[in-house]
Amino acid sequence: MKKIAILGSTGSIGTQTLDVVDKHPELFQVEGLAGGSNTDLLIEQTKRYRPKKVSVGSKDLAEKVAPYLPAGTQLFYGTEGLVEVAAGTDADTVVTAVMGSVGLESTLAAIDGGKQIGLANKETLVSAGHIVMARAAAKGVSILPIDSEHSAIYQCLNGENRERLTGITITASGGSFRDLTREQLKDVTVEDALKHPNWSMGSKITIDSATMVNKGLEVIEAHWLFGLHYDQIGVLLHPESIIHSYVEFNDTSIIAQLGNPDMRVPIQYALTYPDRLPSPAQRLSLAQAGKLHFREMDMERYPCLRMAYECGKMGGTATTAFNAANEVAVARFLRKEISFLKIEDIIASVLEAHHNVDEPDLQEIARCDQESRKLASSL
Ligand code: NDP
Ligand code: MG
Repeated sequence: MKKIAILGSTGSIGTQTLDVVDKHPELFQVEGLAGGSNTDLLIEQTKRYRPKKVSVGSKDLAEKVAPYLPAGTQLFYGTEGLVEVAAGTDADTVVTAVMGSVGLESTLAAIDGGKQIGLANKETLVSAGHIVMARAAAKGVSILPIDSEHSAIYQCLNGENRERLTGITITASGGSFRDLTREQLKDVTVEDALKHPNWSMGSKITIDSATMVNKGLEVIEAHWLFGLHYDQIGVLLHPESIIHSYVEFNDTSIIAQLGNPDMRVPIQYALTYPDRLPSPAQRLSLAQAGKLHFREMDMERYPCLRMAYECGKMGGTATTAFNAANEVAVARFLRKEISFLKIEDIIASVLEAHHNVDEPDLQEIARCDQESRKLASSL
């Protein structure tokens, strides 16, 4: 029996993680669940999975939830609550699926608690990758990627000599606006942006896919997960999202991982690694797919991806600033305060004002995160 805790259980990745649990109820026991403000769903999940600890976003929400929890479930809230669910249960694996760099403290707490990490929350690696990876190495904790591209790469590298790896290519669907010109992007709405052609995901990552920030975050995530230089990490437009990513070796061989787009496959793989089990996903028929398409990535069309590479190569706090600026800009776009193209302007302005600090500690990262957010909110 594998004991798991889920941070962000009420979100897109969180609920799909529970789908995987439902598919194999004999294999998994849910020890902890943490959500933000969707208390109805959290109560429902708590009644169904009977975790020992649950957490909600705030004290007010905790007061609202308390009367409905089954006996034997302890209730927490806020950042401390996330940490409690991450590190304070008997779980051996913690799925990190909250949205944004708010997940950093709890991810580190889970690592310090010796938990294996199923990592969906890429913003933690973008914001503080060197600290997270060093902490995991020191603790002997594995970080198993849930992001579909990184899971693909992880699978392609199984049993291979890493020294023979020449590079990896992360595929990108192109998001909701992949067929629009920059001119056409001026007038797009929040509703248009939220219509992703291939994946059903939380709203922040759906916008990140449209701006290509998501691919930028994934390039930085890959740098930390696989210890690669940025010039070894490529991005390729692949509208069908069938090839989830691929790796290339020094003998020119390319190994790719394919499947229908369904996050429950990489989620389950992270939970059952190195084993594989039947999954709730639909089998892929290449004959039915017929054709797969690929296009070179255009850095002029997608300046956010270019900025992500630049920040990654710069290192230090640059990626922290990039991530923080984007989180605020996307939240403002979702509130309809700014236009779609303003997201990239805000990121560019925050990066222009940013003073990079090498090898930042957690305090420095928190300071950079807060300053970047403040500036991004005021622009
Ligand atoms: P959602 O917005 O669907 O879910 C986010 C979850 O985090 C919800 O459970 C939400 O709670 C919770 N949450 C948000 N803020 C807080 C907070 N301050 N305290 C506690 N809980 C909080 O996002 P996704 O599931 O789409 O994405 C989660 C992460 O996974 C992101 O980092 C994303 O980049 C990554 N990811 C997602 C993929 C996907 O297919 N969705 C694919 C690959 C990576 P509530 O809803 O109750 O407020
Ligand atoms: Mg992805």
